[in-house]
Amino acid sequence: ENGATQKQRKNKKNFMKEFHKIMEMSDIILEVLDARDPESCRCREAELLISGMKGEKKLIFVLNKIDMVPLPIVYAWKQHLEKEYAVVLLKSNTQRQTTNYGENKLFQNSVKKNPELVDDMIKSGKSLGTHKLLELIKNYSREGNTKKAVTVGVIGYPNVGKSSVINSLKRKRAAAVSSRAGFTKNLQEIEIDSKVKIVDSPGVI
Ligand code: GDP
Repeated sequence: ENGATQKQRKNKKNFMKEFHKIMEMSDIILEVLDARDPESCRCREAELLISGMKGEKKLIFVLNKIDMVPLPIVYAWKQHLEKEYAVVLLKSNTQRQTTNYGENKLFQNSVKKNPELVDDMIKSGKSLGTHKLLELIKNYSREGNTKKAVTVGVIGYPNVGKSSVINSLKRKRAAAVSSRAGFTKNLQEIEIDSKVKIVDSPGVI
């Protein structure tokens, strides 16, 4: 804080405003963690804030970049993190194309029977784990027998893969739907399906 220029202070204030807004408007918050060092990219302050917010907000840890860590270590982290929140293992789609959604079906069906395929799968540019993540989001959006519409926010330190996670969840026809009053110009809502929307903020969070 010492020596910060007025502009820096203003930027920080705007950042915090947007950060809070994402958490306030989301029913489910994905905290993206880099599988190489998940504990260091946790923001406990935000976790605490979320648990104290009005409404029943759910936090999900998305352990991203699992292709960069040996699998036994990934599973050990999962076990450790699960003591606090639900954990989904993910390798984001790192291909730059519009038909992002989808993952290797082969992975889902065969990895348990053929663990030697894991290497092949993680070397591909496609995502892994997105189906599981969507399934969990939809489970959380169920209230008794009825499904309610949910808004999903994505938070995490720079470079952990937030944009890549959002891209992996997008379907080809997913569209920005942000003409809601009160939206800051940086925040966009992306419709994943009729019941699930993701808040996307191009610059910062
Ligand atoms: P953000 O700053 O949190 O939005 O992070 P980005 O989505 O921009 O990702 C940061 C970098 O990590 C990019 O170079 C991505 O290609 C890369 N990345 C993201 N997810 C994965 C992943 O699951 N595996 C690998 N190997 N790289 C990833």
